[in-house]
Amino acid sequence: MGEISGSRVIARSLKQQGVEYMFGVVGFPVFGIAAAAQREGIQYFGFRNEQSASYAAGAVGYLTGRPGVCLAVSGPGMIHGIAGLANAWSNCWPMLLIGGAPDAYQDGQGSFQEAPQVEAARPFVKYAHRTESIERLPFYVEQAVRTSIYGRPGAVYLDLPNDVISGRVEEDSVEFKARCPDPPRGLAEPASVERAIDTLANAERPLVVIGKGAAYSRAEAEVRAFVEGSNLPYLASPMGKGVVPDDHPLSIAPARSLALREADVIFLVGARLNWILHFGLPPRFAPDVKVIQLDVSAEEIGTNVPAEVALVGDARAVMEQLNAALVERRWRYPDETPWRKALRDKVAENQAAVEPMLHDDSVPMGYYRVLREIRDQLPRDAVIVSEGASTMDIGRTVLPNFEPRHRLDAGSFGTMGVGLGFAIAAAAVHPDKKVVAVEGDSAFGFSGMEVEVACRYGLPITFVVINNNGIGGGPSELDRTRIPPSAYTPNARYEKVIEAFGGRGYFVTEPSQLQTVLKEALADPSPNLVNVMIDPRSQRKPQQFEWLTR
Ligand code: ADP
Ligand code: MG
Repeated sequence: MGEISGSRVIARSLKQQGVEYMFGVVGFPVFGIAAAAQREGIQYFGFRNEQSASYAAGAVGYLTGRPGVCLAVSGPGMIHGIAGLANAWSNCWPMLLIGGAPDAYQDGQGSFQEAPQVEAARPFVKYAHRTESIERLPFYVEQAVRTSIYGRPGAVYLDLPNDVISGRVEEDSVEFKARCPDPPRGLAEPASVERAIDTLANAERPLVVIGKGAAYSRAEAEVRAFVEGSNLPYLASPMGKGVVPDDHPLSIAPARSLALREADVIFLVGARLNWILHFGLPPRFAPDVKVIQLDVSAEEIGTNVPAEVALVGDARAVMEQLNAALVERRWRYPDETPWRKALRDKVAENQAAVEPMLHDDSVPMGYYRVLREIRDQLPRDAVIVSEGASTMDIGRTVLPNFEPRHRLDAGSFGTMGVGLGFAIAAAAVHPDKKVVAVEGDSAFGFSGMEVEVACRYGLPITFVVINNNGIGGGPSELDRTRIPPSAYTPNARYEKVIEAFGGRGYFVTEPSQLQTVLKEALADPSPNLVNVMIDPRSQRKPQQFEWLTR
């Protein structure tokens, strides 16, 4: 049969386990793995820094349900990749980091880029293993991939010493593994399903909260059927947006604060009561709120607020159970109730409050004006990537999502610098769709060089940089004797970064330019960047609560 290299065995094993995308930076000792992956039909994207590549790998895991791979060289490269492991860990996304390592026989000798890689990965992963033989690679790859997608999804790590990567063995000594099936979809206890419906039926002010666990489990049809069947008001978490389209009549998203604070029963569908949902505690929630909690992870149940009803299982499968129970019970939340009216009034009030800002033609512009114009030009099925502080927070309220898994943002970990990697991952998974990355200027700066990757692969991404001269806004002119910590170079021409690699750049200062520029940029099948100057003092509409509950 002949010999086969370690690289080849890794690549073939990955492909057999359903891995379709690999992102990385090649160098010693992983050159051969990227090349072998391409030969096996895995799409390889060469990045400029492993950090962005690792973010892309996590995003692919979320978007496809099979882990994306980040390929990193030994030592510093692998350490950069930990950024993505941590981001995936925090978001519960499957990804696989593959770290090259020096030859095992040099361990402890101070070899090139030697580092405690497995130990460094360990706190962020469900599984970390240093491989010791080529013959065992298919076993470890299957175990890593399966562990990343079964149970609560998460990150995994494989450490590959150079002697394993570049070694060769007789091909018939390697036993490849069959593809591990997609995760089994566990059902909730039938009694809990009944209790969930009872609890909702007895509620005066019920609310459904849709999280990215529902998006991840591809429960969109079931969740929508449940919302419509039960007639319940709902809102979505940032990345839960689009599971049910944002323009659905039962969405009360603009009344979020009121809804959370006044609800007496909240049904969490794949969303955690962490900082994003203010821990489920007063003053943001009622002190005696009853929580119905659906999660694939039993350990999550009861975090911060004891669950009234625990539905442990897969979101799609459990929502199907609930839909069957709804039909049987013929229960439906009434059309007209004081709660529905209170929510509706608040939605109208909040929409009216931002309306003038959405249409404000002053120069320099404010966030709302720019985002409204993006909203008006976006295709309905665009993938929206978003990061930055106000850019992301205001963008979440202004930019609608109509399809599930079409929003990627700083997420549970609040990571800035994810946008470029996410946009490239989204374009890889959805080559037929427009990807729009709406970036604060500081967020863009974390990984701006990755626009070269978008240009090299010809990905149809429009980057919009909403530029306020710094972190939370910087001065319009710099006094170099006293540069504020939050300031970046004023009026920076970020669009020239993409021009360096052949992409088209636009610089916008006036609202009247926006429509034409965005139309042109969005119609362009090549990557481009629109740099929009806004007023450094522009802010969110006044909020009742601080963004961070403390
Ligand atoms: P969000 O930020 O949208 O609120 P979180 O990341 O906080 O979402 O929570 C998502 C939850 O979804 C996690 O607790 C995770 O365990 C859960 N989850 C992941 N996959 C599934 C699934 N298939 N079914 C149900 N819950 C899931
Ligand atoms: Mg800024």
